[in-house]
Order: sequence, then C-alpha cells, then structure tokens
Amino acid sequence: MSIDAIREAIRAGVDGDDLAAIPLGETYRAAHTLRSEQEMFADVPSVDKDPRRSLHVGEVPMPELAPDEVVVAMMASAINYNTVWTSVFEPLSTFLFLDRFAREGQWERRHSQDHHVVGSDGAGIIVRTGSAVRGWKVGDRVVMAPVVTHDQDPAANDDQMLAANQKAWGFETNFGGLADLSVVRASQLLPKPTHLTWEEAAVNMLCAGTSYRMLVGRHAAQMRQGDVVLIWGATGGIGGYAVQLVLEGGGIPVAVVSSAEREAVLHELGCEHVINRSAEGYRFWKDPDTQDESEWRRLGKQIRSMAGADPDIVFEHPGRETFGASVFVAKRGGSIVTCAATTGYDLEYDNRHLWMKLKRIIGSHGANMQENHDVNALIDRGTIQPLLTETYSLDDVGEAALVVKQNRAEGKVAVLCLAEREGLGVEDPEKRARIGEDRITAWSRLFAQARAGELT
Ligand code: NAP
Repeated sequence: MSIDAIREAIRAGVDGDDLAAIPLGETYRAAHTLRSEQEMFADVPSVDKDPRRSLHVGEVPMPELAPDEVVVAMMASAINYNTVWTSVFEPLSTFLFLDRFAREGQWERRHSQDHHVVGSDGAGIIVRTGSAVRGWKVGDRVVMAPVVTHDQDPAANDDQMLAANQKAWGFETNFGGLADLSVVRASQLLPKPTHLTWEEAAVNMLCAGTSYRMLVGRHAAQMRQGDVVLIWGATGGIGGYAVQLVLEGGGIPVAVVSSAEREAVLHELGCEHVINRSAEGYRFWKDPDTQDESEWRRLGKQIRSMAGADPDIVFEHPGRETFGASVFVAKRGGSIVTCAATTGYDLEYDNRHLWMKLKRIIGSHGANMQENHDVNALIDRGTIQPLLTETYSLDDVGEAALVVKQNRAEGKVAVLCLAEREGLGVEDPEKRARIGEDRITAWSRLFAQARAGELT
C-alpha cells in the first residue's frame, strides 16, 4: 500500500526526493459524507442528528493534482464546527456548495463528487507539488489555512476574504483535511510551528485566524491596549484564541462560559473576569419570540462591576440567543464583531441601542493569508498556545464531531490521521523547552485538573 510506504518513509525521516518517488495510489482513506444520504436527517430534530451516522471513514478516489496545488500527507487534523454542519446537512447540504464550486472552472469540476471529504485544518508533510507551485517543495512540514480564493479576482489582491468566490477548504470544497492525504492550494500553506506535535499544530489555523481577524487584523474590531472585550464561549475554539489574543494584546477580557470547570480554567490562564452564564441563570429570551431586556441590563451591570467599564468590543458568535444582549452591553461607540450564529441566524436586537449610542456591527469571516501568517507567527513564537484538549483517531471522527456538536468539548479536538500516536512531530525540542511544556499544554492540563476537581 502506498500509504504504508509514505508512513514508513516519514517515520524513517527520508528526504523530499524519496518521498516524491513513492506512488500515491488511486484511492486514499478519508472521512466523508455521501450525497446519497443528504436527506437522511430530514425528519430528525436538530438536537438528535448524529454525526456518527453520516461521517464515514473509507477509501475515496485520489483526484488529479492542479498546477497550483500540493498533496499533503496528513499527520493530524481537527474538528471544526463546520464539519458538524456538514455532517448534519445543516443549514444546507454541502453538496450544494461543491456543485456551485464545480461551475467555476476545469479544476473546480473535480470537487463535485458523490462523497465530500471534510476537514478544514491540519498539519502534515508535502508529498507532491503541482507544476506552478513556487516556494514549497516535497518534504516541507506545513499547516494549512482554510481560505481557498481565486487570486485572479482583483478584490482578492486587496483582501482575499473580499473575493466573491472565497471558500472554506473541506467545507465548501472537497478533499479536506480529515484524511490520510489532502489536496490543497499552495496559497493555503504556512510553515508548521517547529516546537509543536502534529496534533498541537493541526488544531490552530481556522479558529486562531478567525479570532485574529475579528480582534487584531485591520479589517474588523482592531482592538487597542486597554480595551474591554466581552468574549462569548471563551473556552470554545474561537473564544479560546480570542482570550489569549486579548490578554497578549493588553486588553481586558470578560469571558462568558457555562460551567464552573471552564470558569476555573480561565482564572488559571490569567483571565480575571469570568461570567458563568449557567450559574448566573441568564435567560435573554422570555419565550421564543420575546427578549427580556431586564436580562440585558443585568448582564451589562455585571460586566461593568467586574471590568469597571462597558465592553469596547463584543466578540459575538452564538447568534440568536445572545445577539440582542451583545448589542445592548457594548459601550457607546463600541463594536459588536460577529462571525457566526450557532444558536440561530435570525437575529433580533433593539436598533435604538445601536444607532443612538453609535455602535457598529462588524461582520467577519475567516482570515486572509496575511492574517493567518501573522497569527501562525505568534503560535510559532510561543506567544499563542494551541487549545488542544482531546485527540481522537480518524476511525472515531464521528464521535469527535458529536462531542463538539453537543458542546462537550473544551478548546479544540484533534484527530490523528497518519501520525501513529500523540506526541510526534516536534522538530525543535530546545525551543519547546524554552517556551515551556506547561505553557504549551496548559489547556489540556488545566481541563484535566478541573475535571478531577483539582481547580476551585
Ligand atoms: P465551539 O468550540 O463549539 O465553541 C462554541 C462556544 O459557544 C461553546 O464553548 C459555548 O460556550 C458557547 N455557546 C454555545 N451555546 C451558547 C449559548 N446559547 N449562549 C452563549 N454561548 C454559547 O465552536 P467554535 O469553533 O468556537 O465556533 C463557534 C461558532 O463560530 C460556530 O458556529 C462556528 O461554525 C463559527 N465559526 C465561524 C468562523 C468563520 O470564519 N465565520 C470560523 C470559526 C468558527 P459555553 O457553553 O461555555 O458558554
């Protein structure tokens, strides 16, 4: 099997020429959904839709490589919420995205298949380069950013995310990262941080890039030192990177979570102001149609009593459940920056609080490659740590997606693909020691301690 030969070559540390000589084979192992099953949950309530039923792990055909692409031997990948959406065919079947993408050109046509290989994050080793690839070679260790753009669209040269046809790899495109091999544009590649294991390196780019653009990059909220930032879901994927970016950038995070364990971990990580929304019993909706303004006021008061000021920035993504409160609590002239609507995209807020207090709602999505590069550099320096807390095997990808869907996961969940076990892939152990094992593994260590009741 060619994949065994690739795994063996990587284990033996062979160089690029030898890796390039190993045949890739006609199929490869990948986590995928099936077009024939896209209606399987049609009559199932959202809460009961189970990714273990829809995510299959098996052989899929190897696509032809486009000139601007590389094939990466995937050592590890990660679960993002978009894989949850794909696996439950909500809000739309992603086969619609693949079919739409396929209409764009010759190479895009390959993406419309009867299977969808999912996964928008990963770390691995390049095993093939297309004829037009510059700057990358077989044998390079890389992480992948999810942004797939058409660089011939003029808008992409200002900000990739403004290109009309930008897509998320492994969500709106095929050949994603939860697989032994993946096919990505060379323009998605960044160097793997040399001090991290494969699974630590695999979990960062999608969420860290998104949070970086929302808070730090020049296209969204542009946090300044001293800003108070309200962060919903502060131990989730994007929230966990947001907390770190705010702390490292001289801001004051006010973190919201739903359990005492999450609260305790955030205190340990240096986050002074943490609201446990479950313990506080916040209910922003009296019934499905009516919000409770007194709850908005109660939240605003609590934030002010903790941080001494209203939030300059609200880091918003839960959507319908929280958006009215988010608009209300932002300070006069402040920003609500949003990239999602997990609890519903039909948002309601009182516009008087927005216009009379000169607030701004900013939409943000993913990150362009400069922003991805900049946040990857922070990870590579050991300023920002991976949020890894759990690692699954590719065969258990359905279970991993279910844990994220049910909000049982903390930080980020990794999936091992070609890596045989956790802990492999560190190229620079001295740098790892310098940054500190305790700092790098803080998220998994602290959550393990919290679960064991060792944090109060
Ligand atoms: P995640 O790891 O599952 O974290 C989400 C967090 O949201 C949870 O930890 C939870 O924290 C909080 N939450 C859930 N229900 C809530 C509610 N009713 N009220 C308040 N908080 C609630 O997911 P993620 O990776 O951070 O992603 C979050 C959302 O952003 C998803 O919809 C994802 O698809 C989207 N996203 C968008 C982009 C983009 O580029 N547009 C990129 C990444 C992610 P507590 O229960 O502890 O409060």
